[in-house]
Amino acid sequence: MMLTVDDALARVLEATPRLPDQLVPVEQAAGRVLTESIASDIDSPPYDKSVVDGFALRAADVAAGIREFRVTGEVTAGDWPRMPVEPGAAIRIMTGAPMPEGADAVVMIEHTDAGMPAQPDKHSNTADALRPADMASAASAASGVDAPRPADGASAAGAAGAASAASGVNAADRWAPRAVVRLDGRPVVAGQNRMRRAASLAFGSVVLEAGRLIRPIEVGLLSEVGCVEVRVVPRPRVAVLSTGNELVPPSIVPTRGQIRNSNGPMLAALAEQAGAMAVPLGIARDDRQSLRQRMLAGLEADVLVLSGGVSAGALDLVPSVLEELGVVPRFHQVRLRPGKPLWFGVRSVAGRSTLVFGLPGNPVSSLVCWNLFVRPALEQMQGRPADGLASARGWLESPRSYRGDRPTYWPAVLLPRGNDVVRQESGRSATDVPAACGPDDRPRIRLLDWQGSADLRTLADANCLAFFPPGNREYTPDDPIDVRLL
Ligand code: AMP
Ligand code: MG
Repeated sequence: MMLTVDDALARVLEATPRLPDQLVPVEQAAGRVLTESIASDIDSPPYDKSVVDGFALRAADVAAGIREFRVTGEVTAGDWPRMPVEPGAAIRIMTGAPMPEGADAVVMIEHTDAGMPAQPDKHSNTADALRPADMASAASAASGVDAPRPADGASAAGAAGAASAASGVNAADRWAPRAVVRLDGRPVVAGQNRMRRAASLAFGSVVLEAGRLIRPIEVGLLSEVGCVEVRVVPRPRVAVLSTGNELVPPSIVPTRGQIRNSNGPMLAALAEQAGAMAVPLGIARDDRQSLRQRMLAGLEADVLVLSGGVSAGALDLVPSVLEELGVVPRFHQVRLRPGKPLWFGVRSVAGRSTLVFGLPGNPVSSLVCWNLFVRPALEQMQGRPADGLASARGWLESPRSYRGDRPTYWPAVLLPRGNDVVRQESGRSATDVPAACGPDDRPRIRLLDWQGSADLRTLADANCLAFFPPGNREYTPDDPIDVRLL
């Protein structure tokens, strides 16, 4: 009795362990599932900080009608202000810099005259436009931040010029303070443009729970809280072995009776796409010696995926050689088209197990079996939900009669809005388009003119597989059809 797809998948998943976790550098953790909860070792931000470039002051002063403020210093990100902001005074502050004591709001520079002279004198020489040495030291004293130290024998203005050139700032663009800044008159509320210490995260709080998938965002967050290594479920190693006397590598022009090995590279790419590490093992001949030798190498991996040699042909030796090598079969053949000959077994040695999938040799059969069985297994191994391909529902573009004794996955295109083929217009595949709808708001399915399981060319046009249950039936455009998105 041939297994159904669901029963076969259940057997695969029941034999699929989650890989034991490993400590990896955070830079390599994207795509992995975290197996420990991570708490913050800092407050973030670590101090009250400004979120804009502007002037830190007291909101109450503005409420009391003050519009012009004495500028008593400057604080940039990386500085630490030591002087408080006095009533009626402001400190020029940069994004990310700590709020000076006394200030409770920041007015963004765009809402002030920037403390610049109203009519800058275009004829003044560059050195005059720089912050004068006495102003720099006054600001330094006020803010408690070291002023740039003039080099021995050089003038302060010269040192400021050198600092300016070194920082890539055009000297003429530099802030030339009048020591007074004028606000443009809009109201200022306490807390404006200030981010409170620990507003984003607090020391000791859990920032990521075990079980979370680490994306690049989480790599950043882990780095923010000082993690350089994290415990994760590692990438499974997937050995890929193609079998068949007719096969030659893609670099070779096939001669009589030969075809290129398209499955090997495709399956390795699928493994990488699924988050695994592909271990390509090339091509084995249809003889026991050649099969045994390469299979032994493949059994070192977490998963061995073979293609070809699992049907009923004279040289379909894969299942028997696998069994000789101690791989215990869990099933052979599934009620499915394409993909019926699928073979699955497990080898367990010293507490370590290798899942072995014998996929049928035809490329489309291989692809369908990969997506229905291997991919969910790899997801489960990596601690993720074993969802496989995403599901969707659509309606046929035109009526179709279907007859078959096996459930069938048929290559198709799920069409976007108005039956426009977006892929042709924009180079994006139709699956990139949200809510693919026909004129009647139903996503439409175009079945492709598919030549069977050796026809990978037609698959390249598909963005989904349309599912037909077994039986003979006329489908109209009003019948919903389930699809799996490729
Ligand atoms: P098999 O499952 O070995 O009976 O192969 C079924 C069909 O798939 C045959 O026509 C093979 O030539 C073809 N085939 C087998 N392996 C590959 C491969 N790696 N790449 C492309 N086609 C293959
Ligand atoms: Mg073969």
